[in-house]
Amino acid sequence: MARASIEVWENFAEVIGIPGYEISLHHGGYLFITDDAGMVDQLRRAVTQHHALGVTDSEYLTGAEVRARFPYISDRVVAATFRQRDGWFSSHEATQGFAKGSRARCLLRTRATGILRDAQGVCGVETERGAIATRVAVNAAGPFAGPVGRMAGLDLPLQPVRRQKVFVAPHPLIPQDAPLVIDLVRNAYWRPETGGAYMAWVDPDEPAGEPAERLPTDWDFPAVVLEKLIPLTPFWEQVAAGLKAADLQLSAGQYVYTPDDQPLIGPAPEAPGFYLNCGYWAGVMLAPEAGRRIAQLVTGELAPQDNPLRPTRYAEGVVSEGDSFLRGRH
Ligand SMILES: Cc1cc2nc3c(=O)[nH]c(=O)nc-3n(C[C@H](O)[C@H](O)[C@H](O)COP(=O)(O)OP(=O)(O)OC[C@H]3O[C@@H](n4cnc5c(N)ncnc54)[C@H](O)[C@@H]3O)c2cc1C
Repeated sequence: MARASIEVWENFAEVIGIPGYEISLHHGGYLFITDDAGMVDQLRRAVTQHHALGVTDSEYLTGAEVRARFPYISDRVVAATFRQRDGWFSSHEATQGFAKGSRARCLLRTRATGILRDAQGVCGVETERGAIATRVAVNAAGPFAGPVGRMAGLDLPLQPVRRQKVFVAPHPLIPQDAPLVIDLVRNAYWRPETGGAYMAWVDPDEPAGEPAERLPTDWDFPAVVLEKLIPLTPFWEQVAAGLKAADLQLSAGQYVYTPDDQPLIGPAPEAPGFYLNCGYWAGVMLAPEAGRRIAQLVTGELAPQDNPLRPTRYAEGVVSEGDSFLRGRH
């Protein structure tokens, strides 16, 4: 899904039909590092798996190879995976671009409050601004997909978990040509951003919570993240020494986990006409392909049984436990 989605991000203006439209795509690369010799085989396997899936430009690097390319990485690092064409972009501009490029009518600040059903299935969506008659409704409500599912009588296996991140103000010691650097032992990561950096820690012990529009942040979160980044990228110690509260901007959202850490995509058989596109913890990078699959399922171009992410997979017993890096769960 990520591979097909990257095709869309790399050709975005053409895909949405707005010449010159910019999403600030930056092929900064993703560098996954470890100082645990016991993980070396796992990293090698990951690269083999990337290649088998057609992502042939992903590389396995030894500690020495990592330091030759990225001199700010500590001597402690024993292995890494790297792909230069991984990267980041403005998800805000991407969302706006999809809306502008489509012929869809978008109703902003209009909350769905109920799913209307008749003998045939879905017949409308009730909103704060009145009902909309439709035979098809897609639940893409992110952390709120659980409550929206309940409107259609479904009890979805979704767990929203708070995730915090920090923007660090510009600092001369933060290398601006660095990739996204992910420490696989401490589950912490950073990447350069406009002279400064984004940094975060995916806390495996953060409990699942209720969906929320505003989430509290922990005042000590930046210190916790810095402590986790310093061992493998020691320049952060010098950056940390001079940091003031005003140099840090904290924010929080929610990852949404499913039992196998893969999204729910497809029709809900209990409520004909009701489709799910939810359960994402790394959803931006999968979004275009997920949207395409939903469209294909709605139009009948893709048969439900040919879609491995169908919500019925749990009941059918065709689930395999995911082993993705950085999912942040034990
Ligand atoms: C700190 C942090 C860092 C992350 N970093 C990355 C990353 O680097 N790469 C990546 O791919 N992903 C990342 N993610 C995850 C990514 O943000 C999510 O997976 C993605 O936003 C999910 O998209 P979505 O459309 O399913 O949900 P959302 O983006 O949450 O969108 C759901 C929408 O539904 C609307 N909605 C909810 N309820 C209703 C209702 N009743 N009526 C009408 N509208 C409703 C909401 O207002 C919202 O606009 C990160 C998340 C966090 C918290």
